[in-house]
Amino acid sequence: MRKILQEQGRLCDVDTALADISARRPALTDIATSLSLLLHARGEAASALPTGPVLEINIDPATLAKGEPLLAPFFATFAKPDAELLSRFVTAARIVLPAAAQAFPKLAPELAKIAVLLDTPGTDKDAGRDLAAQLLAAIGPEAEFATPPQTIEDIAGRLSLSAPALHMCSTETLLALLCHAARLLEGKVDQDAWRRGYCPVCGGGPDVGLLKEGQEESEFLVSKAGQLWLHCGQCGTLWRFPRLRCVACGCEHPERTELLVVKDDPREDVERAHLCQDCRSYLLTVNLVDRVDRVNLEMLPISLLHLDVLAQQRGFEPLAPSPWNSLS
Ligand SMILES: [Zn+2]
Ligand SMILES: [Zn+2]
Repeated sequence: MRKILQEQGRLCDVDTALADISARRPALTDIATSLSLLLHARGEAASALPTGPVLEINIDPATLAKGEPLLAPFFATFAKPDAELLSRFVTAARIVLPAAAQAFPKLAPELAKIAVLLDTPGTDKDAGRDLAAQLLAAIGPEAEFATPPQTIEDIAGRLSLSAPALHMCSTETLLALLCHAARLLEGKVDQDAWRRGYCPVCGGGPDVGLLKEGQEESEFLVSKAGQLWLHCGQCGTLWRFPRLRCVACGCEHPERTELLVVKDDPREDVERAHLCQDCRSYLLTVNLVDRVDRVNLEMLPISLLHLDVLAQQRGFEPLAPSPWNSLS
């Protein structure tokens, strides 16, 4: 779908989206600027990384059918990362950390310390690739099997670093690697075979949904209400999902879902939050059906932050919690 949107001229760059958000919702300018700095860094990191895949991923329809995201074998290597992954992590961190320092000035001095440590060549303990290996092991899905098992807080305490800065370094660098890997893989997902509430590439939750006109194969009709495409909050992959089903709990009762809009807002018909009364989660959506405006998929969730505020005030939880939408 990203390719189709691109071909239809429906996508814009980060700076155009930032200017648009600042003009429409000035209160969101600072937070949108911070995100734009990180997105630029992700793009630069992608250009600096090797063009090939980080791991030879076997595209096996049976694995996808079981609900296993394509990058699951990649995450499994974090407990004992290989030289290629460590080299990529250090390369991406070199670009991402200065941008994170600019986006979050309060963490800047600590991020600078971490950047210097990670950039130390050689095989010193607690520096360079050894530190990268420890960070990956600590954030991987099998962190408890790493040797020795340690959390980001353990590492921060031992090296007298700030735990929030070390978290930021690890997750932002990983996001750069995931986005790079996902652009190579997203076209290989069989969109007719995956109808789950998490990303077929990395397993992340959706941070926004798009409604887009499309041909329904079963009906040979263009669906006027639009197909729902979910956007992964981690790697940016788009995948299809039934339009009237709750992503979190699968509820399909219209009377248990509610549309939240900003009344009398010029974009009332475009920007919405779908609230599920059953599980108290919500999905933000943007309606692109019969419209010609351009969007930046990665900046979209920030442009809808006013709806996060309203939904969370009413006690609903986002599907993909992030530092941006964790408001309480
Ligand atoms: Zn993903
Ligand atoms: Zn639900």
